[in-house]
Amino acid sequence: MAVDMATIEGLCKRRGFIFRSSEIYGGFNGFFDYGPLGAELKNNIKQAWWKDFVHKRDDVVGLDASIIMHPNVWRASGHVDGFSDPMVDCKESKLRFRADQLFFAEVKVDGETIGYVSVLEDENMQRDAEEKAAELKRKLAKQGSLGEIVLKNYMDAKPFEYELIPSPATGKAGSLTPPRDFNLMFQTYVGALRDETAIAYLRPETAQGIFADFKNIVDTSRVKLPFGIAQIGKAFRNEITPRNFIFRSREFEQMEIEYFISPYDDWKALHRQWIDACKAWFVSIGLPAKDLAEDVHPQEKLAHYAKACTDITFHFPHGLQELQGIAVRGNFDLTQHQNASKTNLEYFDEARKEKYLPHVIEPSLGVDRTFLAVMTAAYSEDEVPNDKGQAEKRTFLKFSPRIAPFKAAVFPLVKNKPELFNRAREVYAKLQNRWNVFFDATGAIGRRYRRQDEIGTPFCITIDFETIEGNGSVTLRDRDTTKQVRLSVDEVIKHIEEAGA
Ligand code: ATP
Repeated sequence: MAVDMATIEGLCKRRGFIFRSSEIYGGFNGFFDYGPLGAELKNNIKQAWWKDFVHKRDDVVGLDASIIMHPNVWRASGHVDGFSDPMVDCKESKLRFRADQLFFAEVKVDGETIGYVSVLEDENMQRDAEEKAAELKRKLAKQGSLGEIVLKNYMDAKPFEYELIPSPATGKAGSLTPPRDFNLMFQTYVGALRDETAIAYLRPETAQGIFADFKNIVDTSRVKLPFGIAQIGKAFRNEITPRNFIFRSREFEQMEIEYFISPYDDWKALHRQWIDACKAWFVSIGLPAKDLAEDVHPQEKLAHYAKACTDITFHFPHGLQELQGIAVRGNFDLTQHQNASKTNLEYFDEARKEKYLPHVIEPSLGVDRTFLAVMTAAYSEDEVPNDKGQAEKRTFLKFSPRIAPFKAAVFPLVKNKPELFNRAREVYAKLQNRWNVFFDATGAIGRRYRRQDEIGTPFCITIDFETIEGNGSVTLRDRDTTKQVRLSVDEVIKHIEEAGA
């Protein structure tokens, strides 16, 4: 079902998946904290990725490089000079916008432009602009003039000085500065000196750590082309307009692979294989194939060194947006680092008896965006009978058992029967050896089920009188169908295992 961002954000907060960073101080824009359930879900996403792309592949090895690296890494990679977004400021409100995301409605009266309404690029904001513009038009019509409203992208418009009526945040009229380049890297100082020579950067991507360690890995691991180096880690970007919850934040995590290939390899075929493997992985963690699409970057929009780039996009609450980028980058990065570091980074191809700099295919994915995609896909509502048999609205998260924070919850039917309670604790302890499971003895059983539904626990196991008085069987309830079956504890374990937990 289509779910809006506010609903997801609300559920994340209410159930302890995600909080705003430093919330007791009013929050800190672009930063988030993952609460108890969020930390579990995020870890499970990362572990599933590592398992499938590192452990289950003979041709990929892992790396965990430092976040702060020698500043020359970022000079060589082009980030110091070129990692920027165009930015405009509203002169009155001092609000800052990413110019390529800024839309505005141009208001024309009798063919003459009288002003603009600014909005940011996304469906809701565009709708806001249209509404504001329509309101203006109505006002104009009252005054007897015929207004015309045209929605435009700021970057396509000239000249760059506009009057705004009104600025979206303050409601006051404002005007915008021309766009300027704004470097997205966070700076810090390393060592006791606080001058230019001590400036270092928090990495804006994990990929450069892989290139910088390429030679170390070739020299120490028995890797042969084609092979990949994978890394999961934090990245930092001083985004001008962090927005859409965790979709675009200032501190986030990436899961990146540099897949090194020979210049003689068929890169098109390998690129296709990576796109397919990444899409299959998304499906394996519960994203419906129908919600995934490919966005092939046109040749003219590619960086000069890139041969191709395809984004895997997903239907997020705010529209079809990039989830992962899979770029074919030639040997640009290794060439840059070889030249800047004056270190030979060539690979010796034994079969060809030839040295060269390998080319790369780069699948680059955000953990947080994957988290948001998983939340969006899992969010479900239906109606189920409550304890009194009346239909009641139910909100549940249809997480794949593979990544669900809790794989199962164990309940004694009632709390005050020691035999039931103790048997439930035993079952709980047994499952705990294998999985992250939850124990809950309080409240009506229906409410306990509902609580687990809302946090996406795929199975609930109830220990009842039949368990202790009969053959030891327990009930296993399925989150999605709410159907219950009686099974032995061993059968329950097998069932959970077979579900992919
Ligand atoms: P965008 O165009 O959305 O800014 P990008 O093309 O700059 O993204 P890349 O540099 O290709 O992104 O980063 C690779 C991946 O890292 C993205 O596909 C996304 O999943 C994730 N990512 C990038 N920037 C952010 C961010 N600010 N917050 C969360 N995830 C991000």
